[in-house]
Amino acid sequence: RNNAEKFEFQAEVSRLMDIIINSLYSNKDIFLRELISNASDALDKIRFLSLTDKEVLGEGDTSKLEIQIKLDKEKKILSLRDRGIGMTKEDLVKNLGTIAKSGTSAFVEKMQSSGDLNLIGQFGVGFYSVYLVADYVEVISKHNDDKQYVWESKADGAFAISEDTWNEPLGRGTEIRLHLRDEAQEYLEESKLKELVKKYSEFINFPIYIWATKEVDVEVPADEDDSSDEEENADTSSSEEGEDEDADKSDDDDAEKKPKTKKVKETTNEWELLNDVKAIWLRSPKEVTDEEYTKFYHSLAKDFSDEKPMAWSHFTAEGDVEFKAVLFVPPKAPQDLYESYYNTNKANLNLYVRRVFISEEFDELLPKYLSFLKGLVDSDTLPLNVSREMLQAHSSLKTIKKKLIRKALDMIRKIAEEDPDESGAKDDKEVEKSGDDDEKKGQYTKFWNEFGKSIKLGIIEDATNRNRLAKLLRFESTKSDGKLTSLDQYISRMKSGQKDIFYITGTSKEQLEKSPFLERLKKKNYEVIFFTDPVDEYLMQYLMDYEGKQFQNVSKEGLKIGKDSKNKELKESFKELTKWWKGALASENVDEVKISNRLDNTPCVVVTSKFGWSANMERIMQSQTL
Ligand code: ADP
Ligand code: MG
Repeated sequence: RNNAEKFEFQAEVSRLMDIIINSLYSNKDIFLRELISNASDALDKIRFLSLTDKEVLGEGDTSKLEIQIKLDKEKKILSLRDRGIGMTKEDLVKNLGTIAKSGTSAFVEKMQSSGDLNLIGQFGVGFYSVYLVADYVEVISKHNDDKQYVWESKADGAFAISEDTWNEPLGRGTEIRLHLRDEAQEYLEESKLKELVKKYSEFINFPIYIWATKEVDVEVPADEDDSSDEEENADTSSSEEGEDEDADKSDDDDAEKKPKTKKVKETTNEWELLNDVKAIWLRSPKEVTDEEYTKFYHSLAKDFSDEKPMAWSHFTAEGDVEFKAVLFVPPKAPQDLYESYYNTNKANLNLYVRRVFISEEFDELLPKYLSFLKGLVDSDTLPLNVSREMLQAHSSLKTIKKKLIRKALDMIRKIAEEDPDESGAKDDKEVEKSGDDDEKKGQYTKFWNEFGKSIKLGIIEDATNRNRLAKLLRFESTKSDGKLTSLDQYISRMKSGQKDIFYITGTSKEQLEKSPFLERLKKKNYEVIFFTDPVDEYLMQYLMDYEGKQFQNVSKEGLKIGKDSKNKELKESFKELTKWWKGALASENVDEVKISNRLDNTPCVVVTSKFGWSANMERIMQSQTL
């Protein structure tokens, strides 16, 4: 076009588009899900703005918050239109030319090697999946603050933007026209599109319409010419609708007397609604099937792998602050969960107020350590017509947060309780045997391997729930036999007279098993917990006691094993030797030299003072400063 402005895609985008175009990825259907998800996001945005300013919606059709799909078989165009927020010229350049999200280059790499595009939506590049099926794409968009523009690209490294002077004005929103490739003609079939919308867009909260072709019977004056009359009737009886009865009847009529009118088929078009706009969280949990929860999780997390979430919790909170919520434990931790832990405030709960989507970046709803959960909250108590900032400061949020944490920890505890492998890890509670035992088997170990670190970070950060979180803690010990065990299990195995919970920290279980600190404890049949994760050192600075029992690091001063009756005599008789030792070792290196009963074969051992860093902690800190 004459006055089109030309742009080049950011190198990363170009690379991504090349991968998509040349991809042998078989599930090309996903493009539709991505387009509908974008349309839905755009509608959410304008609806949110309309809460404080009704004017933004405009009038007439423009104000209808809906999505429309049209098929043009002749021109081989599939178009999808929304009346969402639209894009200004600047938005078009930025949103459909560059990649905003970090971590995308890692994704591009991964996609290139695995060929799996299923996660594309999670990485903020879902739009480009249109090139799975189209070789030329036009995006027509009208934002309230700008004129109508057309973005277009043949995925050849460049795109063009022109002011739109030839298409019909959109009012507001975006229309995406896909010029389908020869091998993607199936997406011009109405039935295919209907099937896909059903499959992928069940949980979209806006109506989705398709411009459907309908064959309708119309009555026209009967023709005097017999032969043509018969033809029409024959058509009717063999039609797809199979209205045999009618056809029979008219045949009968025919035989008896000439009808005054006859029926003929005519093709018309009308908007057909494809989805049933229902919010799953408003339904009673009893009525929602496991499959529906799984599908809902997939659409919420934009994770379309086949995996089921590990657990979910769907509940209604009543009282001062009323809300409904659904929480999910994902099947896997994202790769960057702990990499970005300290510098992002990523919250994964979507906040709705009275069914209206407000934000997915609301970090006041869950503490950081639970940010691995996905889900949503819909509150009736929060005000609708205030800014996001004011909402963020609303006092109800504290109550909501508190309840969400409780429910989240309950949900995690249940994974353990229902896991047959965990029997004994819980407080002697009898858990009903159920048919899905197999499915639950090993689930808690799986949870622990994916998210255990979050539980530890929770113990460090959340003093209020420290005990609840400590119950969820798992570790190996001198008696756990290579499996994971819990504090409750440890306590149930404690020897009579044992007051403290013993633990040791280090780099690996193998290294710790050889430690001289364990000699005597092992011999006397005491259980010692192995803490081998660097975070454990920090953890144990916060976890002082559990169920009234103190924690004792066995490599530190203050270890008491059973009764120390002979200690006094020994101390007396070795007085001279310990004195000599203390003199021999420079006093800046050691604080004290003591007689100990912690050893068995090893003659002596260096112990850290009670309030000092353990040797392992010194090692960790050294590696951090280097
Ligand atoms: P994501 O949706 O994860 O941000 P996409 O690649 O799907 O990534 O889309 C990129 C961006 O393009 C969106 O964030 C949005 O700003 C813009 N966009 C895409 N489709 C639409 C649309 N129908 N209406 C308005 N903006 C859109
Ligand atoms: Mg998207």
